[in-house]
Amino acid sequence: MRLSEAIRLGATLRPQAFGNYFKDGGSCALGAATEALGFRSDEYAVQIYAALIDKFDDVYCPGCPDCGQSFRNLRMISHFNDDHRWTRERIADWVELHEPQPLPEFECLTPEQQEALNAI
Ligand SMILES: [Zn+2]
Repeated sequence: MRLSEAIRLGATLRPQAFGNYFKDGGSCALGAATEALGFRSDEYAVQIYAALIDKFDDVYCPGCPDCGQSFRNLRMISHFNDDHRWTRERIADWVELHEPQPLPEFECLTPEQQEALNAI
């Protein structure tokens, strides 16, 4: 699944939230992506974020089209979601333009992380 696809799919599950993966019954763009990938709790946000960074580390991030700031990797997505309040669909459109290749299945967690996540 591509990251853009995961964001779009997860966006259909809850309203949008800001500042956290999951908040007040909603999800941010990255929360939507992680939920689409099967993770439903921000209890593991640090591990999930680290895993996503690892997985999507090669995603090319040019400067923000709204303000010109440049961030690495997934931080740009949080910037769009939280600082500019882009819709998750708009964020997915942007990600789709910049993600280089179809991404492999989500399998970058350590066995311990995977076991913990499976217990959710
Ligand atoms: Zn910006």
